[in-house]
Amino acid sequence: MNDFHGKRIVVLGGAGFLGSHLCERLLREGTDEVISLDNFVTGNPRNLAGLTALGGFLSVEHDVTEPLRIAGPVHYVFNLASPSSPIDCAQLPIETLRAGSLGTENGLRLAREKGAVFLQASASELYGDPLVHSQQEDSWGNVNPIGPRCCYDEAKRYGEALVMAYHRGHGLRTRIARIFNTYGPRMRLDEDRVVPAFVGQALRGEDFTVFGDGSQTRSFCYVRDVIDGLVRLALCNVTEPVNIGNPREMTLLQLAEAVRAAAGGAGRILFQPLLREDPQQRRPDITRARTLLGWEPRTSLEEGLVETLAWFRQELGPSSGELRP
Ligand code: NAD
Repeated sequence: MNDFHGKRIVVLGGAGFLGSHLCERLLREGTDEVISLDNFVTGNPRNLAGLTALGGFLSVEHDVTEPLRIAGPVHYVFNLASPSSPIDCAQLPIETLRAGSLGTENGLRLAREKGAVFLQASASELYGDPLVHSQQEDSWGNVNPIGPRCCYDEAKRYGEALVMAYHRGHGLRTRIARIFNTYGPRMRLDEDRVVPAFVGQALRGEDFTVFGDGSQTRSFCYVRDVIDGLVRLALCNVTEPVNIGNPREMTLLQLAEAVRAAAGGAGRILFQPLLREDPQQRRPDITRARTLLGWEPRTSLEEGLVETLAWFRQELGPSSGELRP
């Protein structure tokens, strides 16, 4: 895959979990210049620490809800700028809506001005509490417009509508990736996502907390695979939304057991009442990604957890990595 040679690429939200992996991958693909625009509201400059050494990387602190001005050519705009984890969206509801609306429109305007391809990082939350299992792209979703996660879900729905309006109205070359649960290095331990929560508990030698009876299912895709899906989608002429996620479904109880096994820990699994509205099941149908992009996840949960745990151990340092004997 060398189609990024000689290209200039703008990544909105490049300092985040997915954005920083995307910047790295694009630089490794031989992209001439990758420019990250990020206001660091949920991202971290440390995520970008190794990128300058790869050459051709520029990090600019900028709020994407303000107009984007970039001199010179731009060939691709990847829009990943949005608070994403449930705790961030709960603390930043207005910022989430503004990033999804104003930020997305500023990114689309930039792509239109430059004749660039625009890729939108959309999300499986757009399917809401799914009525159909598993989720295909032609499902319209079942979203509560005033529920606890509404700012994120509705921002993603509006974002897709805006992307399609620019495509239909201005002939912009657009891509929409509906990303499902992703995990891997550079997640934050303080997020209330289930993988970092279990990993944190494993590394601190604590018991594992499962909310509900643990029978809710999720599917978890390793970050390297997700980034590969985004890169392939950007390079294909596919305008309709494409699910990017792992169809291997597991219960939260199975996930807790897998993290415990990967960490070599012995914590007990304890059950607590569910704190919030939570879909019972979510699993992507990736037929479209397989057919149109030739993409599917390659990393097993076991491999991905080993890499994730290794990264968190390094982050936390030797003293915090003590496991329960
Ligand atoms: P993240 O919070 O780690 O990264 C988002 C980045 O966007 C951060 O660096 C943040 O500082 C930046 N940002 C937010 N608002 C901004 C603004 N107004 N101006 C400039 N920068 C801004 O989240 P992530 O998990 O890397 O998610 C990236 C994208 O992928 C998001 O759009 C998210 O909705 C989407 N997504 C992620 C997942 C997942 O499992 N991580 C799943 C589905 C969709």
